[in-house]
Amino acid sequence: MLNYLDIELPDDARQLQQRVRRFVEDEALHLIPACFEARRFPTELIPRFAELGLLGGTLPPDGTGGAGLTPMAYGLACQELERGDSGLRSFLSIQSALCMFPIYTYGSESQQRRYLPEMARGALIGCFGLTEPEHGSDPIAMELTATPDGNGWVLNGTKTWIGNGSVADVAVVWGRTPEGIRGFLVERDRPGFATRDIEDRLSLRAATVSELKFTDCRVPADALLPGAVGLGAALRCLTEARFGIIFGVVGAAMACYETALAYTKRRVQFGKPIAAFQLTQQKLVDMLTGITQGQLLAVQLGRLKAADRLRHQQVSLGKRANVAMALDVARTARSMLGANGIRLHYGVMRHAVNLETVYTYEGTHEVHTLAVGRDITGEAAFG
Ligand SMILES: Cc1cc2nc3c(=O)[nH]c(=O)nc-3n(C[C@H](O)[C@H](O)[C@H](O)COP(=O)(O)OP(=O)(O)OC[C@H]3O[C@@H](n4cnc5c(N)ncnc54)[C@H](O)[C@@H]3O)c2cc1C
Repeated sequence: MLNYLDIELPDDARQLQQRVRRFVEDEALHLIPACFEARRFPTELIPRFAELGLLGGTLPPDGTGGAGLTPMAYGLACQELERGDSGLRSFLSIQSALCMFPIYTYGSESQQRRYLPEMARGALIGCFGLTEPEHGSDPIAMELTATPDGNGWVLNGTKTWIGNGSVADVAVVWGRTPEGIRGFLVERDRPGFATRDIEDRLSLRAATVSELKFTDCRVPADALLPGAVGLGAALRCLTEARFGIIFGVVGAAMACYETALAYTKRRVQFGKPIAAFQLTQQKLVDMLTGITQGQLLAVQLGRLKAADRLRHQQVSLGKRANVAMALDVARTARSMLGANGIRLHYGVMRHAVNLETVYTYEGTHEVHTLAVGRDITGEAAFG
């Protein structure tokens, strides 16, 4: 296992990491290239996500579906999933951090009972609708409306770039009400709710990404998440998901580094393995250094989270730094494989293009720069 500084990890976290690694290597990796080409998430793996205790895994083990995983264990599971493909980790982020977490945190008891155990079993899939066609980085300006109507609400508007969108049974949807932004649970079969997949994307292809359209979509009063008040409630879910990304992208970088190392030791040019050239070694050492720094950053943020001392600005710093590192490692690995680097077979270009999505979603690199910038200067530079 790539852990150059022998960073100490708790036994439970290491054991889960090993179990998820075996799952990815034995059961997932062989499916990924075809899924990437066909632009589909391997839904046949969902029961295995559940058996591994990953779905909603960090929620308390209180009978609603959680497994009480520590942040470190969850993070390392994300690392191993993304070592396979960003689509696998994204699926977990959406189901756990963006759907089960808000239902657990903001939902009524009856909402928790209705959805969480089934979601932990993988029998119900969720999605999280915040982004709109005209509002990505500035969700505060969202246009989707939720209008009170008799004993319920009527939703009108569009969400886009929604992971799991068309395969989800229930959507966590954020909308504007007369009292401000609120979160709703909208089931797939509601009249007036339609989805359409975004088909021409060149990144995160082993996943489902869709547009959600609400046209006079009537939902009952108990679709409202009672505790989800204001945009801050949605942003708190994103902080949970970003925590997983900080670990996840280290996994993608590890996969690229390991592929580049093995390839350059094998590939002979000018009578020598290309790993014997100084320029190649410099690239490998830079990659390993970035990965090692990324691991240290992730582990320290995991410790802060376990101690309930993790601030969202620290998560922004970690997401920003580790995604940039992983993208750099993936692009470098791509170059080191020469022409083979662009082939799906070797996986490095797949990771590189996936990481272009991760650079943008869950808050873009630039927006996280502004979040940390505001934290250290006291000056908001968003507007
Ligand atoms: C594959 C994929 C899956 C996704 N899944 C989900 C999902 O499940 N749910 C969901 O709600 N959303 C999802 N998203 C949407 C994602 O969160 C948004 O794409 C992201 O927030 C950026 O919004 P945008 O694409 O509208 O870009 P824009 O906000 O239009 O930004 C375009 C560029 O302008 C920059 N920019 C914007 N504002 C500023 C500023 N103030 N200062 C400097 N630069 C700025 C941005 O950093 C970026 O470089 C997904 C996106 C992708 C690609």
